[in-house]
Amino acid sequence: MLGVHCSVSGGLLNAFDEAENLGIDTFQIFTKNQRQWKERLIAPEEAKAFRQRKAAAGIVSVFSHSSYLINLGSADPELLTKSRQALIGELRRCTALGLDFTVLHPGSARGRSRKEAIACIAEQLQLALGAVPGSPVKILLENTAGQGALIGSGFEELREIAGQVASDRIGFCFDTCHAFAAGYDIRSRAGLDDTLAEWDRIIGLDKLNCLHLNDSRGGLGSHLDRHEHIAYGKIGEPAFAGLMNRFRGIPKVIETPKKDDWDRKNLAKLRSFLRPASYSK
Ligand SMILES: [Zn+2]
Ligand SMILES: [Zn+2]
Repeated sequence: MLGVHCSVSGGLLNAFDEAENLGIDTFQIFTKNQRQWKERLIAPEEAKAFRQRKAAAGIVSVFSHSSYLINLGSADPELLTKSRQALIGELRRCTALGLDFTVLHPGSARGRSRKEAIACIAEQLQLALGAVPGSPVKILLENTAGQGALIGSGFEELREIAGQVASDRIGFCFDTCHAFAAGYDIRSRAGLDDTLAEWDRIIGLDKLNCLHLNDSRGGLGSHLDRHEHIAYGKIGEPAFAGLMNRFRGIPKVIETPKKDDWDRKNLAKLRSFLRPASYSK
């Protein structure tokens, strides 16, 4: 399962044109403008057309990335309410469209302690999940680069949030660029294996629902969230080769700049790492 973040400019259905053109079986989208608070409802006809197109295109998994504006750890009550409402809107759109999950950056502790922010994030997640009862859509907490006061650069914080929410509708997304920028040295196969062993010990590999495959422009521990094309950044090939072979059945998407047909080049590079399935490790 390998794909990219698809563009929805001109309409959600346009993502399928891009997916078919690239020959991918999974992709991520924004269900609304990710840099604006303005909400968007999915009309029943739009949802129906989306589901039909997904089935016809043979796409195995489609999911969303939540708005970058959301901060469920905010010390500002107004921003906190807006954030929760935006996440509820996202869950409703994902439910209508039949998406599997939405990927979310947990939040920032700016203006308060990390402990307070984590408790706040967990509470807001419970409220958001409770506002869309019975939905099969999960919220995946994504590890962050740890820029500023961002929560979730360490696996322990992700586990702490999920533990406090205590819902089977919480899962996890691992972003290679963010992990490396946060200080996890995945450049060598041994380093990758150590990092995954740590993830397994703290969170559990069974709770790894999605991978964001991005190389990093920033160095190890730089806390810079700057994505680079596969094998052209500071992480390099071994990590991506390891992840491609180890996590075949988990949706993996690239989130790097698209221009000059880079999605196609990055996908080809990642596919070139695949070994015959019988030779798995
Ligand atoms: Zn993200
Ligand atoms: Zn990501």
